[in-house]
Amino acid sequence: MTALRILAATLAALIATIALAANWHRAPADPHHPLKRVGRHLLHRRQRRHHRRPRVVRNHRRNPIVTAPSIQEHLHLTEADLIAEQVAEIIRYENRNHPRSLQKELGPSEIGHPCSRKLVLHIIDAPECNPGIDPLPSEIGIAYHARMERHLLATNMRLGRERYIAEQRVTTWYAGENGAGDLVGSADCYDIDEQRVLDWKILGNTSMDAMRLHGPKVSYQRQVQLYGRAYELLGYPVKSVAIVAIPKSGTTHGIKAYPYAYDPTVADEVQARWHQLIVLADVLGVEKNPQMVAAVEATAETCEFCPFFSRKPDGSGYQCPGPGKPMIPAPTGA
Ligand code: SF4
Repeated sequence: MTALRILAATLAALIATIALAANWHRAPADPHHPLKRVGRHLLHRRQRRHHRRPRVVRNHRRNPIVTAPSIQEHLHLTEADLIAEQVAEIIRYENRNHPRSLQKELGPSEIGHPCSRKLVLHIIDAPECNPGIDPLPSEIGIAYHARMERHLLATNMRLGRERYIAEQRVTTWYAGENGAGDLVGSADCYDIDEQRVLDWKILGNTSMDAMRLHGPKVSYQRQVQLYGRAYELLGYPVKSVAIVAIPKSGTTHGIKAYPYAYDPTVADEVQARWHQLIVLADVLGVEKNPQMVAAVEATAETCEFCPFFSRKPDGSGYQCPGPGKPMIPAPTGA
């Protein structure tokens, strides 16, 4: 009798299982139906497996270790952002550490700047404060200078003789022993046939427009004359100098040249002024008392690219808001 009961129970269980399997895809609407419960369980188990919270490490149920989000997660940076920043940082780092950037001595491109205050700040090696100066424009300029050098050397090869001297290391004046105080630079081009010194300016649209409108800046004009003097010292005849503006964006039709007669007195004046400013910095005692820099005449020429430019100077004397504005803020409550 007992054996018959067991057999009947087994058969009933078997029939129920077959019925469940056959109706799996036709689960009834009742949310508490056993088939629904099994389905929900399976679904939740899969979600738990594939959608685990990524930043919670449970080495103990009661003490989860929660790690801080990475910088990338915190700032919501995408992979594209990271690649762009990686390339930008390579450019910034290499620019900062290029010998040209590490060089402390002023060259012909800076020493003719019309602003005496800027030159005095250079003389005392004031800390730079302008974060707005991005290295990319000068990087592109340097790269195109190298390209022009290759073009000139190729042209000489094509001509079968040396017509152009490219990227020549030159000295505009010699000041003392061991080269200390010499004005040294790299002249872009000397045209032997024309006895002319050429200086490339690789410019963005705004600077190209400004040059078309107002002509080359004073510092550009002085710079090319300083190269003229340097070539003369090398023994080459110099009849003229020229600034050649090459647009960064645009076509070769946009290239513009500004020729001048060579004037050796420009180099004399720049040298005399430089020595006067060294004396002035000494007389004012700006090294010990940098706030005295405010007494030095300021002249605006692209202040936004000046390394000492600050809209809100901190009063140290090392930061300049431009001509006509106070370098030392008035004391509060005065
Ligand atoms: S910000 Fe302008 S005025 Fe001031 S030091 Fe520089 S160039 Fe001269």
